[in-house]
Amino acid sequence: MTIADLDAGTPLIEVAAAARAWLAEHLPADWRAAALDGRTADLERIRRARAARWYETLGESGFATPTWPREHGGFGVGADAAAVIADELTRLGAGRPAEDFPGVALAGPTIIAWGDAAQKERYLRPLALGRERWCQLFSEPGAGSDLAALSTRARRREDGAWVVSGQKVWSSYAHISDFGLLMARSDPDERKHRGITYFLLDMRSEGVEVRPLRQMNDEAEFNEVFLNDVVVPDAARLGPAGRGWSVAITTLMAERSGLSGRPGVGPALVDGLAARARATGAWDDPAVRDRIMSAFVAEKALQMTTVRAFVELGEREPGAEGSIRKLAHAALEEEVGRIAAEIEPFGLAAGTRDPDGAADRALRAFLSSKILSIAGGTSEIQRNIIGERLLDLPRDRDPHAGLPFRERPRG
Ligand SMILES: Cc1cc2nc3c(=O)[nH]c(=O)nc-3n(C[C@H](O)[C@H](O)[C@H](O)COP(=O)(O)OP(=O)(O)OC[C@H]3O[C@@H](n4cnc5c(N)ncnc54)[C@H](O)[C@@H]3O)c2cc1C
Repeated sequence: MTIADLDAGTPLIEVAAAARAWLAEHLPADWRAAALDGRTADLERIRRARAARWYETLGESGFATPTWPREHGGFGVGADAAAVIADELTRLGAGRPAEDFPGVALAGPTIIAWGDAAQKERYLRPLALGRERWCQLFSEPGAGSDLAALSTRARRREDGAWVVSGQKVWSSYAHISDFGLLMARSDPDERKHRGITYFLLDMRSEGVEVRPLRQMNDEAEFNEVFLNDVVVPDAARLGPAGRGWSVAITTLMAERSGLSGRPGVGPALVDGLAARARATGAWDDPAVRDRIMSAFVAEKALQMTTVRAFVELGEREPGAEGSIRKLAHAALEEEVGRIAAEIEPFGLAAGTRDPDGAADRALRAFLSSKILSIAGGTSEIQRNIIGERLLDLPRDRDPHAGLPFRERPRG
């Protein structure tokens, strides 16, 4: 089996073997050795120096975007095979970095589902090769969980182009992005979920102002994005005008699935935690051991549920059941963050600034551990989805459902 033969019918065990064989042949030897020996700092240095070339090689092979059709640079395999490939890449630190998540996991699938021929031709290849980076411009100060309440405006000009004005917030990686997935209200006389149009915004357009925000974990991954009368050509509209909510559902489903846990069963978060507990002596405390073991069991259950979900999903679009995994994943990250902080108390107490040190990593893990319970839809919203769509509980009532957006009370 070579990668030329990989397709939707290839058994998973052969997909894994093909990925391993390809990586053995193409991943630079020092990169591979640093990953297998667990030399994190060396791996980071090697990756930084070789990233651009490596992501081109990965993109050309199809392993960066395996579910995409062959003509757009993938193999057309299902989510289960993609999970197997992701696992092989993760083991060697060879997958695309976190900042490419909005492009690879969100923009690609949405453009494949909704793009016209010219858009697929223009955007997919550079994305697969790691040459262009994307961000997601959905959330606004008044529209997060209730995303359809967005009020960024897109007005159509006589020549067919759009003029967009408004403010977005929490836009991860917008400061290093070439393009943004943008939702804007094109018709406030329509009801809330209608009258929204979806655009592929060139972030270098005049009037796009990106202001980074510093987070409590000391990273500056988020941004506010101000759109000041930005002219967007109609060729950058994705899907029909006014049907942007349907396009966004494709993005949101892909996002939830992408944030719901590592697709392989193997060493992961809690193994690192156990190793730190042994190194610090915290392991001798039976109460700590008990919590670590509970987290270990929860992680294994999540991994196996994720593998099962990916196998059952095959080529089907991810659905509401992804909310269960996202909820479980967020709870696990929080618990791991709490335990990490408790077994490295000196880092927290002293607020040490030793960026490569274990105590500093524990502090950052603790401060970052809430991320998954907010990003991509909060845990409360996932519970609502599970209640309404999987358990058939009554839906949230909206007393203003019939009103045009312009007449809805806001605040
Ligand atoms: C790490 C990270 C990265 C992010 N990246 C991006 C990005 O790249 N692009 C982007 O567009 N956005 C991004 N976001 C924003 C994220 O999608 C929103 O923060 C999220 O949807 C919540 O919206 P909000 O912050 O406006 O909170 P709100 O919607 O104001 O919610 C506040 C609280 O009320 C609860 N709540 C609200 N409505 C209900 C309800 N109906 N039932 C029960 N409880 C409810 C919420 O659960 C929450 O606890 C990111 C967020 C994080 C944390």
